[in-house]
Amino acid sequence: MINEAYERTIAPVADWVRQTRDNGMYFLEPPFESGQASRSRLRDRDVIMLSTSNYLGLAEHPEIAGAMKDALDQFGPSTCGARLSNGTTKLHHELEERLSQWLGAEAVALFSSGYLANLGAISAMCDSETVIITDQFNHMSILDGCRLAEGSVKIFAHNSIEKLEYVLERNADAAKKFIVVDGVYSLDGEIAPLDGISKLAEQHGAMLMVDEAHAVGVLGDGGRGAAAHFGIGSDVLMGTFSKSLAGVGGFVAGSTRLIEYIRHTSHAYIFNASLPAPTVAGVLKSLELMRRESWRIEKLWHNTARLRSGLLELGYEVMGSVTPVVPIMIGDDEVALKLANELIDDGLYVTVALPPAVPKNTSRFRANVSAAMDDETIDRALELLGQAGKRHGILS
Ligand code: PMP
Repeated sequence: MINEAYERTIAPVADWVRQTRDNGMYFLEPPFESGQASRSRLRDRDVIMLSTSNYLGLAEHPEIAGAMKDALDQFGPSTCGARLSNGTTKLHHELEERLSQWLGAEAVALFSSGYLANLGAISAMCDSETVIITDQFNHMSILDGCRLAEGSVKIFAHNSIEKLEYVLERNADAAKKFIVVDGVYSLDGEIAPLDGISKLAEQHGAMLMVDEAHAVGVLGDGGRGAAAHFGIGSDVLMGTFSKSLAGVGGFVAGSTRLIEYIRHTSHAYIFNASLPAPTVAGVLKSLELMRRESWRIEKLWHNTARLRSGLLELGYEVMGSVTPVVPIMIGDDEVALKLANELIDDGLYVTVALPPAVPKNTSRFRANVSAAMDDETIDRALELLGQAGKRHGILS
């Protein structure tokens, strides 16, 4: 029996879940019945995967599975320990070295997820003398890192250089200033204006941290990310393995001294079991494949252009997205949920972003393009989205 005070906390969510389940509209955590390339299986149906961060289509690459199996034989399924004790294998060091060479950074520290990399780096870097300056639409892991940090947090309007400058000027006297932004925004797919942001950071003596989660494998020379795309340096660079690199885990890159500091102070690094060696081996293979099969990035951009122009032609609004993260505005929250469910029956899986993740009645699908798709698959997805939009009066 839950006591009354806690019942007040739990009820709004638990009631919504029960009601949506009763209506057959519950949509979260759908249990997929196969791996996720451009197609998968869900509710006993073949579905086109229009929402997976498998940008380069590496998630089903046999060489990655092979590398993971070899590492499983050699190192076992878990390190059963944290990095500073028994949780480091030579593969962990190899991946850190490989990533720092690839990014042109002095050093890299691995984390067990991208979420923890943000949490761990921001909370370690930002003490009580720090003003942390962050975009209003930054990923929740950045926000949580800011909450955990001891510094004071200032939020500026999304992608607004003017508002960032205003915040920097207002906090000119702060002993330490730390700007942290997403390189590519995970919901609406815009790119941060990093050229302007880095100029301001330099002028105001601020540190700059960029989250490259949706930019690695997507933007910049060889998929090196958004900072590389703009040709700027960032003091701290964060990335994740769970998207283009078809693994799990995260990393922080920076100067040797900064990374040594993070390794010895970041709780998310010190007090967390390390990545399993098979995961590390898989990511090492992904990095190699990304270089060897460079056609994947080109294919990703070809597919992105095809999907985006097809959606615009149908009459959908894509919120100014210029990357493989393509929002499809639906509007009415109930209709969005209904449509997403119907689309599964039609053979298309697409994630729906509902309140509180977005403001009320601005629900949208979040499509992610993948290099694993061919033209026929994209055209079929467009056909299904077109039919569904007309059925519900979203499209004329
Ligand atoms: N940053 C951004 C911008 C993200 O979109 C995500 C994942 N959704 C993360 C960090 C966290 O990465 P992970 O899921 O690999 O922990």
